[in-house]
Amino acid sequence: MAQERPKFIVDENVGKLARWLRMLGFDAVFFEGGGDSKMVATAVAENRIILTRDTEVSQRRLARLGKLKVLLLHTENAEIQMDAVIKTFNLGCLAQPFTRCLEDNTPLMSADKEEIMAIIPPHIAQTQNYFMQCPQCRRVYWKGTHWEAMIKRLAKFSRCPE
Ligand SMILES: [Zn+2]
Repeated sequence: MAQERPKFIVDENVGKLARWLRMLGFDAVFFEGGGDSKMVATAVAENRIILTRDTEVSQRRLARLGKLKVLLLHTENAEIQMDAVIKTFNLGCLAQPFTRCLEDNTPLMSADKEEIMAIIPPHIAQTQNYFMQCPQCRRVYWKGTHWEAMIKRLAKFSRCPE
């Protein structure tokens, strides 16, 4: 179980994967433009795997030399893309849902209910006791119905075969 957790940089053309990977606790930065060269430089500097539909990126010299890791996705279907990422990097057993901010990829920290009372809806304060907060954007997460629905949708990707 000492498998290293891979880190990703998600190209705009497969953007949905950023949120989904974060939902499963994977480090996935979203590349918001600025040219492919910038994305490649970030990937190499931070040891991130590029997820893209752009053939050109996967054919770069650095990729051929093995210095750049790229997974080229061949479909527009985000679920099939996600499935390919999980299978290629064997991520099923590495999922850690509820650990990373969906908005900005920052690792979440547990939050005391008293401290966040003022910024959560009253009915949530009444029904939930376990909260996580993003130290970056201050967004608060809890395992409510919305969360459960998302996790159910992603369950097939985070299956861990024994
Ligand atoms: Zn955040």
